[in-house]
Amino acid sequence: MASYETVIGLEVHAQINTKSKVFCECSTEFGKEPNSNSCCICSSQPGALPILNKKAVEAMVKTGLALDFTINQQCMFSRKQYFYPDIPKNYQVTQFEPPLCSKGKLAINIDGKEKIINITRIHLEEDAAKLVHEIGNRKLDYSLLDLNRGSIGLMEIVSEPEMSSPEEAFQYLTELKNILEYLGTSECNMEEGKMRCDANVSIRPVGQKELGTRIEIKNMNSISGVRDAIAYEVERQKEVLSAGRKLVQETRLWEAEEGITKSMRSKEGALDYRYFPEPNLVPFDLPDSFIEEMRTQLPELPKKRKTRFMKEYGLSEYDADYLTSARTIADYYENALNASKDKKSAAKPIANWISTELNGKLNASKIEIADSPVSCENIAKLVNLILSGAISGKIAKAVFEEMYEKSADPETIVKEKGLVQISDESAIIKICEEAIAESPKAVEEFKAGKERAVGAIVGLVMKKSKGQANPQLVNKILLEKLKQ
Ligand code: ADP
Ligand code: ZN
Ligand code: MG
Repeated sequence: MASYETVIGLEVHAQINTKSKVFCECSTEFGKEPNSNSCCICSSQPGALPILNKKAVEAMVKTGLALDFTINQQCMFSRKQYFYPDIPKNYQVTQFEPPLCSKGKLAINIDGKEKIINITRIHLEEDAAKLVHEIGNRKLDYSLLDLNRGSIGLMEIVSEPEMSSPEEAFQYLTELKNILEYLGTSECNMEEGKMRCDANVSIRPVGQKELGTRIEIKNMNSISGVRDAIAYEVERQKEVLSAGRKLVQETRLWEAEEGITKSMRSKEGALDYRYFPEPNLVPFDLPDSFIEEMRTQLPELPKKRKTRFMKEYGLSEYDADYLTSARTIADYYENALNASKDKKSAAKPIANWISTELNGKLNASKIEIADSPVSCENIAKLVNLILSGAISGKIAKAVFEEMYEKSADPETIVKEKGLVQISDESAIIKICEEAIAESPKAVEEFKAGKERAVGAIVGLVMKKSKGQANPQLVNKILLEKLKQ
């Protein structure tokens, strides 16, 4: 059996994060009553004239700059003609040549090594409306059209066929989504269809130069879904070729529940969309000053923020990676740090609380960090209580549980429950003496040279003090007493 290599190119459609649609003043808000966000322009009434949304162009240029694209300053639009059941005017206003952004790139991390994926283009276009075939659970035997989504601005980001595994595609999409979210140019909410991906997959015998037959997979609504669909598709293609059969260029659908791709339509013989310049939108030039203005508005992007977190806060690469993996997490971290009493000593513990305890709880309850029941001020207070020695790490975990359940302030919890750590030596000495008296066996073992036997006595002290004895002090006092 020949060995094959995988080639993947991704097309990402991201809805541009603007208040109004790309050619009219209708709202882009998701989930409104069907057809309540529509007007004569976005419902394709004959003679209605589109007006370009400047904010959409700004978002495109910022995205292009952030991904190292060349911005094509002559801006023009084209009509892509087709029988579109979801665009009543039967053409989509899009960009053909030139797109607003050409030749960009994105770095992904594969097994600790950086790989650059080149991105062919980003062009601006209008989204299609939505065909509705069921109401609630009732399947209709006719189609309804909901125009709310029609003409929302979209950026289509088309990569070169340069990814070579499902994991690389996963990393590319994760990184791209993170950057768009940092920029704020798309909300990228995949469940709401604000970011969609088509994956183009082919395989070829190792060493062959020409690309193999490309299969396009649609209908994926999560990044892990894309990874699974590609993995399935690669195996399917290998089986077909190994059996001596041929692949045909086609579009397939990902059936997430069954975990398989199914043929949707053949794509042999490219469609001729008869592109021509959109006569209702006059070509115009983007001035240099506009591009420079957009450049100054770029926020600190994930890579830079990660490096700064490591340098400024002394975090490990692992922690910095996690904290900058979404802008919301990075903002939460820095807000917590700014609320803490001693930034320098709080930097690491706050990072730990976020990446372990908080992250675990949020994941389990499927809550985004932006909606966390524990505020960043409260995480800062908790860490401060630990650093000042007021509570032990063990008690802090119990306090955190309550902070999460009740959105409560840790200082109040500690006060009301009397959880303050006992650091008074004489009180601890007394408990240690009791514990030693009650543990003759452990004492004997310790005296016979088994130092670890002290652990059992420490445990007893902690139990007697309801976990409130300062563990460092307990250890110190017990060893002193036992060695006497
Ligand atoms: P279309 O509109 O037909 O989908 P596009 O040019 O918009 O065409 O997108 C083509 C995508 O397919 C690009 O991302 C490109 O990298 C990818 N691609 C092209 N040929 C192959 C191939 N043989 N194998 C995998 N991906 C491919
Ligand atoms: Zn409208
Ligand atoms: Mg395509």
